[in-house]
Amino acid sequence: DTAASSTAEAFRVVKNPNPATDAERAEKLKDLAFGLQFTDHMAHMTWTADGGWGDRRVEPYGPIPMDPAASVLHYAQEVFEGLKAYRWADGSIHLFRPVANAERLQRSSWRMALPELPVEDFMASIDALLELDHAWVPDAPETSLYLRPFLIGTDVFLGLRAPKRVDYLLIASPSGPYFPGGIKPVSIWVERDYHRAGPGGTGAAKCGGNYAASLRPQMAAYERGFDQVLYLDAATNAVLEELGGMNVFAVRKDGTVLTPIINGNILEGVTRKSVIQLVEERDLKVVERDITLAELREGIEDGEITEVFACGTAAIITPVGRIASADFDVTVGDGEPGDVTSAIRQRLTDIQYGRAEDTYGWMTRV
Ligand code: PMP
Repeated sequence: DTAASSTAEAFRVVKNPNPATDAERAEKLKDLAFGLQFTDHMAHMTWTADGGWGDRRVEPYGPIPMDPAASVLHYAQEVFEGLKAYRWADGSIHLFRPVANAERLQRSSWRMALPELPVEDFMASIDALLELDHAWVPDAPETSLYLRPFLIGTDVFLGLRAPKRVDYLLIASPSGPYFPGGIKPVSIWVERDYHRAGPGGTGAAKCGGNYAASLRPQMAAYERGFDQVLYLDAATNAVLEELGGMNVFAVRKDGTVLTPIINGNILEGVTRKSVIQLVEERDLKVVERDITLAELREGIEDGEITEVFACGTAAIITPVGRIASADFDVTVGDGEPGDVTSAIRQRLTDIQYGRAEDTYGWMTRV
């Protein structure tokens, strides 16, 4: 990835008068879960239709006063990203493919009629925040600092239009290993009654509304005892799309690895894109195409498909051990993480944590 040239204007700093003490921070960095702890500061920029992007600042982390008529509260004008900063053994801090997230944020913004944040500002906001809050990047195995950049429409107007005022914020949350007890395969419920995206919809955008709509099917899957939902396409209800927050891959016995093609309905995962390169490194062939549920199910049943895994920033690579719906229930392989899944996970995390050479130029030092 090309490092963004630094044409961004400087961020003004308003220091938190009451940052966590070293002891308080150390306490918070123990036993990390996901998304519960936040650092002392946040980066913030404001866009107006008249003035464009401006008012770059890093300020104390905390509530943002908002007018009750702010457009995001009514029409869900929100897009977000998720990426991680990793602490290497030598203490340095590295981001994984941040420009890909900056560019996806622009594509999501375009779809939601929000202004596109320049890549340079995205990068500079991370630098500015981490200059103050770098001590919050944890160093225990499999931990990282999860970065959450997002845009919200803050127009004070109840009419429905592209907002004339937008705020960009970047918050950061130290996060622990996704699987504290070791990697455990997840079970997946294939959803036939609800869809997360339709042709011409917002499936390819990382907008909050997509996730709000996924909660009811996710709850139903939990109640049935499953961990995650696998969505099918809305047009035919037969073709695999993705999980609620992860892309999906299937490994075939013949050495091909299948994944749904980017078709405007699924999110173009940064992990997905990276996994494709790492799979090809192993002399396996990746095929991006439509995969029907029938093909997946029959392939698993007759042993043609030996592994299924999901991937995304939060959990990196998650083996799938069981897939079911109202009319079937299959165990993938022996229900344990497969060889390809484990090898790709190891390879990717070795690059992210600086244990292997960054041959693809994916890591950006902060
Ligand atoms: N699909 C969806 C719907 C997601 O929310 C995510 C997480 N961003 C992904 C796939 C995986 O994307 P990435 O690898 O960029 O995290």
